Amino acid sequence: MENVITLAHGSGSIQTNELINGIFKSNFDNPDLTADDAAVLSLDEGKIAMSTDGFIVSPYEFPGGNIGKLAICGTVNDIACMGAKPKYLTCSYIIEEGFPIEELEKIAKSMGDTARKAGVQIVAGDTKVAGKGQVDKIFITTTGVGNIVEGVNTSGAFAKPGDKIIVTGDIGRHGCTILLARNEFNIDADITSDCAPLWSNIEAVLNETKDIHVIRDATRGGVGTVLYEIAHQSNVGISLESEKIPVDPGVRGVCSMLGLEPLYLACEGRLVFFVPASEADKVLNALKACENSEKAAIIGEVTEDNVGKVILNTAVGAKTLLSRPSGELLPRIC
Ligand code: MG
Repeated sequence: MENVITLAHGSGSIQTNELINGIFKSNFDNPDLTADDAAVLSLDEGKIAMSTDGFIVSPYEFPGGNIGKLAICGTVNDIACMGAKPKYLTCSYIIEEGFPIEELEKIAKSMGDTARKAGVQIVAGDTKVAGKGQVDKIFITTTGVGNIVEGVNTSGAFAKPGDKIIVTGDIGRHGCTILLARNEFNIDADITSDCAPLWSNIEAVLNETKDIHVIRDATRGGVGTVLYEIAHQSNVGISLESEKIPVDPGVRGVCSMLGLEPLYLACEGRLVFFVPASEADKVLNALKACENSEKAAIIGEVTEDNVGKVILNTAVGAKTLLSRPSGELLPRIC
């Protein structure tokens, strides 16, 4: 095989087959990934959750992951947030002519590794090659499906006054990592993306209680955006305790240098739970026992007043409205 992707790799020719067999099949290997037009699968009875997401992160490789790992985690986590165990994924690649095959192999390997870790099978895929300059290096779209655990019913519209709000770890690491990886600010900080598949964390919680109102992954827009979304969807107010919000000192440092609010920096391995107060300790303890959510914390609660608003309470007793950023804070972070 040549060492870069050529237009021939996307033409359905011998080269396409080499690419599929040499790179994708060997890394994704499972009996459901066949050479037929579509995968033939079975799901359990009951409700399913299905989601799709496109990934255009720049740079495509960053401390803590790459676009491949991100493409698996993003879709797995969206399905998991509905209380569904992710089962099958498809992936579609758009690759720029001239992209190094060695790099594609690294991306495919982390997709395979992450899929196995998440317990999902990649069952179908597609590769298209675009001419030089028509696409920036590599874009990946993943679609996933899984069965919703019986008895679970979560939605952004289900938050209720009195609910405790739990975040599963320190916030803003992914956004901060991508920002620094672009080398535009000349800041040296040891920060890695939190990118991780989170079904096992949600499963651990559901094993303790199914009385969960909302689960959402705080991706683009960060925890702050998720909180505003829920406040609007559920017609409630949100009250946060500033000093309870976990932020890595490195992320805090970068944010204060650049005037950024960590609440609005993307995470790729953090969940926000809204749970009845009676369930909060159970949920917190289940999360703390899992990898990637050891530092879970209750950061606030849902209020009847201040509908549609997120209020920050500081340690000295001051109350401020969390202001909302306008426009795109950081383009191409996922
Ligand atoms: Mg999501």
